[in-house]
Amino acid sequence: MTVFKPVDPASLTPHKHPFIDGKPKQMLIGGQWRDALSGKTFKSINPSTGMPIAEIADAGAEDIDAAVAAARQAFETTWRKVKPLDRQAILLAAADLFEKRYEEFAWLDTIDYGGPISRTRSGQRRHVGLLRYYAAQAVSLHGETIENSLPGDFLTYTLKEPVGVVGAITPWNGPIGNSIWKIGPALAAGCTLVLKPSEHASLSTLMFGQLMLDAGLPPGVLNIVTGAGAAGAAIAAHPGIDKISFTGSTATGQAIVRASAGNLKRLSLELGGKSPNIVFADADLDAAAPGSAMAVFANSGQICSAGTRLFVERPIYDEFVERVSAIGKATKVGDVFDPETVMGPLVSEAQLTRVCGYLDAGRNEGARVLAGGARLQDGDLAAGYFVPPTVFGDVRDDMKIAREEIFGPVISAIPFDSVEEVVARGNATSFGLGAGVWTKDLSKAHRVSRELQSGSVWVNCYQAMDPAVPFGGYKMSGYGRESGIQHVEEYLNVKAVTIKVA
Ligand code: ADP
Repeated sequence: MTVFKPVDPASLTPHKHPFIDGKPKQMLIGGQWRDALSGKTFKSINPSTGMPIAEIADAGAEDIDAAVAAARQAFETTWRKVKPLDRQAILLAAADLFEKRYEEFAWLDTIDYGGPISRTRSGQRRHVGLLRYYAAQAVSLHGETIENSLPGDFLTYTLKEPVGVVGAITPWNGPIGNSIWKIGPALAAGCTLVLKPSEHASLSTLMFGQLMLDAGLPPGVLNIVTGAGAAGAAIAAHPGIDKISFTGSTATGQAIVRASAGNLKRLSLELGGKSPNIVFADADLDAAAPGSAMAVFANSGQICSAGTRLFVERPIYDEFVERVSAIGKATKVGDVFDPETVMGPLVSEAQLTRVCGYLDAGRNEGARVLAGGARLQDGDLAAGYFVPPTVFGDVRDDMKIAREEIFGPVISAIPFDSVEEVVARGNATSFGLGAGVWTKDLSKAHRVSRELQSGSVWVNCYQAMDPAVPFGGYKMSGYGRESGIQHVEEYLNVKAVTIKVA
């Protein structure tokens, strides 16, 4: 049944990947690979070179209809009746295949969205681990019996039931990981999916669709449609979809809330951020400096919980910001297939234009450029969308670069004087996704962690993620949690059963 055989990793080169074979990429609907009914396609661009790498089917509303119909049929006739142990077995088989073929996925993502190979490779433990974590959850679902006070003899209990057909919409900043974070919990819960990866990086998700079929997933349980915002909007509005799980920008999240109102879909939304990363004077600065630099420079700053507002206690401000700037200047940017490269390009020309707009805004509003600050155009880099690690000093809270999500490798360094002050300023944002605290004082770490309004707080580390630890937003960073035992609950309805015992 296997269609794609594992390739020898040694055969992979920057210019040769078995999945990039010149053929237009089709969508997975009802277990079949299909073109868009309209025949339309769009191009996926390699952000390191600006060159197209694949033609991909461009889904219209009629393709979304077909995918939803396939998902509904698979839900009603197959998947919701498949026993937990059998759902688990498929997820575990998929995890094994994925582990064997991980290198192919890492290479594909590196070509498609520009994450350096050092980064895409390092995702293996987490991404394979996520699949195995959700496999365990498939056999751990349970309701409760409840002591009641009804007059007479009544038995009351709850059943947990899959919500049905899930529409999943993902961004491009970690293509394969983002898709697995939707597929794993939905399948564990007994839901079927219509998944739309980002138009900027759809390839690894399509390759993963075949892997799921190879692992024994019945047709129609996972449908993958490709396209841009219009395809996403058709999913958000579709009356045949019961729940949307979305990761992306806050503005698109708001559009999804509005579009989903027609049939009151359940929603989980993981949206933007402008996370405070707070460094106290008593911190281990040898750890805090690289930790704070990579809290933003990792993935070229294209992480929703990046610690972009770097609050530094005044006595160490100059020295610390200098150290972070020095790390920025020494960070290797460029060839994404060089294992030493730490930062690749931004994902698209539009993103490059956006980020460069913020670099101009920072300068115009009077912030001081301490590292980076302008697009890289030397030699081969000119063809791609490269921006160097950038540090702005003398940033005020009211500047655009301190208020708005940039989604690029840009740190806004801001001095502060007291715990109360930095907590208030850290919280003075409409976002609430991540936060960092660097101190050797345990009491201060606890106090500040409690006061910060964000879904994750990292103390003396940043962005440490684990399948068992919930992740999600406060305020306009969204609602719902991914990872952790709560995650699968987002895909379940609770039914209360009351039985009068005769
Ligand atoms: P990003 O800037 O990270 O691309 P978006 O929120 O625009 O953020 O995109 C995230 C995902 O949402 C992508 O898959 C994109 O195609 C999809 N999308 C864009 N606009 C809409 C929309 N109006 N409704 C639903 N999905 C959308």
